[in-house]
Amino acid sequence: MEPSSLPVPRGLAFVGPGIWLKGNLHCHTTESDGAVSPSEAAAGYAALGHDFLAITDHDVITDPATVDGHGLVLIPSVELTAGGGRLGTQFHLLGIGMAPGTPLPGKDSPGAVSSAWLRAHGAATFVAHPHWSGLTTDDLLGLEIDGLEAVNAGSTLDSLKGDAFAAWDDGLLRGRAWTAIGTDDTHWHSIERGRAWTMVHAPARTPEAIVAALRAGRFYASTGPEIHDTWAAVSDDGATLRVHVSTSPVASIYVSGPGAHSAMAYHPDATRLSAVPVDAPPPVIQGHDFEIDLRRDGKGPFAGEGTGRTHVRVSCMDWYQRRAWTNPIFF
Ligand SMILES: [Zn+2]
Ligand SMILES: [Zn+2]
Repeated sequence: MEPSSLPVPRGLAFVGPGIWLKGNLHCHTTESDGAVSPSEAAAGYAALGHDFLAITDHDVITDPATVDGHGLVLIPSVELTAGGGRLGTQFHLLGIGMAPGTPLPGKDSPGAVSSAWLRAHGAATFVAHPHWSGLTTDDLLGLEIDGLEAVNAGSTLDSLKGDAFAAWDDGLLRGRAWTAIGTDDTHWHSIERGRAWTMVHAPARTPEAIVAALRAGRFYASTGPEIHDTWAAVSDDGATLRVHVSTSPVASIYVSGPGAHSAMAYHPDATRLSAVPVDAPPPVIQGHDFEIDLRRDGKGPFAGEGTGRTHVRVSCMDWYQRRAWTNPIFF
């Protein structure tokens, strides 16, 4: 049950009307270094039951009007190369929702300039695979972005450098209101397709509505589980943070705050597996109601370091360690 006085913090995807749409926001085709045509790429995602696809070829916007979308919502997009990483590395910036034909900044344009340019042109803007790129948190802090890829399946398969949860949390700790998508970065010569996706809560099945929802943080992302609902509220006396989560069957559910602050839940039988027959399915939960004591350490647990603001983000993980994660909920 949802408290009637619940505020709607920025980034909370699960409140209000809308439809849930599943899609991939990072995909290459023969327009750059992918192995299949744009229409074949759309067919590949339609076959997975996805609702939308962003074709993000390198430094070129593929015009959806030239593509057989096989029923998908195609969002004109780009993966823009930019320069200026402090260690000499490049940025790859996803611009989701760009007018086809828009002249793009050059590959040597600094990341700070190109990211601001993408957002000024209406694109939801995410840093692709920061770990794979060799970017530092300082590099990311200099950008104007909506967020980053917390999971890039292609980079995970290619080098085990597709995960950016630590960089994301570092940015949140330093006061950035970043969100985090999951993508395949499909090139079609590996097995990336369908490994990571983003669930958008949008008012309509259109590119414009999906991009607006991405910019507003109205989404979660996953490599397996589903998050059906979550909300968070501080008690009137300020002493307790209540967080409600409901999910598909999972091994564990997490509430993560800044720094070392976190809470987790799992099925009671998961701690006494000796009591469970070896051939029994592992015990799962499908939700949890957390009550977190905000006064525990006397210093404002779950408070950001020096930002005067606090947040939590919710995640869950199945027994294969596939996970789903929400955007931060700020207080
Ligand atoms: Zn890239
Ligand atoms: Zn890519």
